[in-house]
Amino acid sequence: MDKDEVKRTLRKLLPAGKVVFDESLDRYTSMGVGGRTDIMIFPENTEEVIKTVAYLREREIPFLPVGNWTNLIVMDSGYRGAVISLKGLRNIEMSEKSRGAVSLRAEAGASLSELVALSLREALTGMEFCTGIPGSVGGAVRMNAGAHGREIKDVLETIRLITRGGEPLEMKRESLTFAYRSLDLPEDSIITGASFLLKKGEKTAVEEQVAGILQARREKHPLEYRNAGSIFKNPPGIPAGRIIEELGLKGVRIGDAQISEKHANFIVNLGHAKAVDIVALIDLVIKKVKGERGIDLEPEVRIIGTGE
Ligand SMILES: Cc1cc2nc3c(=O)[nH]c(=O)nc-3n(C[C@H](O)[C@H](O)[C@H](O)COP(=O)(O)OP(=O)(O)OC[C@H]3O[C@@H](n4cnc5c(N)ncnc54)[C@H](O)[C@@H]3O)c2cc1C
Repeated sequence: MDKDEVKRTLRKLLPAGKVVFDESLDRYTSMGVGGRTDIMIFPENTEEVIKTVAYLREREIPFLPVGNWTNLIVMDSGYRGAVISLKGLRNIEMSEKSRGAVSLRAEAGASLSELVALSLREALTGMEFCTGIPGSVGGAVRMNAGAHGREIKDVLETIRLITRGGEPLEMKRESLTFAYRSLDLPEDSIITGASFLLKKGEKTAVEEQVAGILQARREKHPLEYRNAGSIFKNPPGIPAGRIIEELGLKGVRIGDAQISEKHANFIVNLGHAKAVDIVALIDLVIKKVKGERGIDLEPEVRIIGTGE
């Protein structure tokens, strides 16, 4: 690619947003690992996302949409192409419907924590399970984030996305196919926003639930270290963390990556871990669990880039 031409064009296409080049990604990922990306784009509105996607497609430059980087492990060799950060799209609107129903319309870059804070302020019930999940709206919808037996799909009304061809599209929940920690979307779609259907509730009940969840997370999760949440999906009938703990793998370390002593389904960065260390630990766990229990563990985290 002619870097100068790409730079000039993208900067012209994004008057409100920002474009940077050769950006190191370890400062963004919650794990604190990752090499450089060729291009990093910060659009400020949907129009800029549309223009960006059209240009990148025309130039055949691969792209990766990201939100809060809390479910991503970027390899040390980085990402060849353009990372599109949706963080600039962060509007949230609330509208009351009939019989106590309330719709929250949020842009992709808004954080789940902002929606939980709004729920607390307005005494809305439905989103308490998102307490402590550090994702963005776009990332949470893409991952069908969940906890405590509830998932994003349970409160979702519609999503707005930009298709691969650059078309804006609104889709209702009924026409979407969700699975455990995933939403099946046409390739290269970018979620620009979503609407959630909540209900007016009891302020104290919402507060108590949120406080209880926060406390349980502080007690169980190794939040004192950089991490990416649960590394593996739970296989049917048994939490992945319990299997890993039973196999005596808590505390196992490769470089500065360690299977958390506190919660076996977390890998923590003790300081200077590399992506290659984390991925080696993931492989070690997968092989051990398969060998000893015959169970195929599947990563929940997304691994971006190629191994070196
Ligand atoms: C401490 C901690 C606790 C966690 N607890 C939970 C939990 O309880 N439950 C749970 O489900 N997860 C949990 N997670 C994982 C993570 O927070 C969720 O998966 C979250 O929804 C990811 O959102 P994000 O914005 O960080 O996504 P990112 O990490 O930025 O991206 C994740 C994936 O979504 C895609 N994506 C992001 N934005 C868009 C978009 N706008 N359009 C299309 N694709 C997009 C990315 O390409 C990537 O494939 C936890 C993580 C941490 C660090």
